[in-house]
Amino acid sequence: RTVYVNGDYLPETEAKVSIFDRGFLMADGVYEVTSVLGGKLIDFDGHAKRLERSLGELDMAAPVTMDDLLEIHRQLVARNGITDGLVYLQITRGSAGDRDFAFPDPATTPSTIVLFTQNKPGLAQSPQAEAGIKVISIEDIRWGRRDIKTVQLLYPSMGKMMAKKAGVDDAWMVEDGFVTEGTSNNAYIVKGGKIITRALSTEILHGITRAAVLRFAEEAQMEVEERNFSIEEAKAADEAFITSASSFVMPVVEIDGAALGAGTPGPVARRLREIYLDESLKTAV
Ligand code: PLP
Repeated sequence: RTVYVNGDYLPETEAKVSIFDRGFLMADGVYEVTSVLGGKLIDFDGHAKRLERSLGELDMAAPVTMDDLLEIHRQLVARNGITDGLVYLQITRGSAGDRDFAFPDPATTPSTIVLFTQNKPGLAQSPQAEAGIKVISIEDIRWGRRDIKTVQLLYPSMGKMMAKKAGVDDAWMVEDGFVTEGTSNNAYIVKGGKIITRALSTEILHGITRAAVLRFAEEAQMEVEERNFSIEEAKAADEAFITSASSFVMPVVEIDGAALGAGTPGPVARRLREIYLDESLKTAV
């Protein structure tokens, strides 16, 4: 694979970052994942805007312009011959050459920027989307600024392992009795045709796929309600699904061992997946 590190395109085996990098020592960094379908980037603008916001919230400067960022994404897609897959981007606060809790002076400490591709042929034709996924619920014990897309992913990784151990696909996190989101996706239920998902706040990541899906749903005259829901309400719902840049719209067919509806993907989730894939390809770059 050809990867990008701080201005250079290199074979992945030659790419290097300092052991003192604050991304490595302190999870002091942010990231984005953008999907590629048919060689084109899905919702690039949305991801670039959220990246700028994440950087701003952490007082980090963007090491490249957003135009440069698009060019780097396109170069990596082309150089690696990606038709379907993902582009991972990470920016960390860099390093002043030692370990220190205080932020280094940004004037003398450039941030570190790394991008790489992940080849995923047939990403949009996932058999999982046909079968639907199963989730368990776990407690949400993450920090309070989940709206910033930081690389602090230890608890979501642990949640994914709890799910695997329970023989299911993912975990929905619950705080104060209500579902926040999945380990790496936003969570939804459907009741009487109405799409219900938690409102935006600092408690969840503002999903780029979420924004697009809710917009498409409203354009298709589907009813959307942004409010909290509990696991009990979810288990009794007609349908459930998740959204993310890598899974698009993915039906959920089981929560904590209880089958939803017929135990197969529901019509609203299926339709939204179709609409999302059709519509987002039209604006892909
Ligand atoms: N919520 C969390 C915690 C995530 O990690 C992600 C994606 O990585 C999402 C939601 C979905 O966001 P997006 O649709 O922008 O991929």
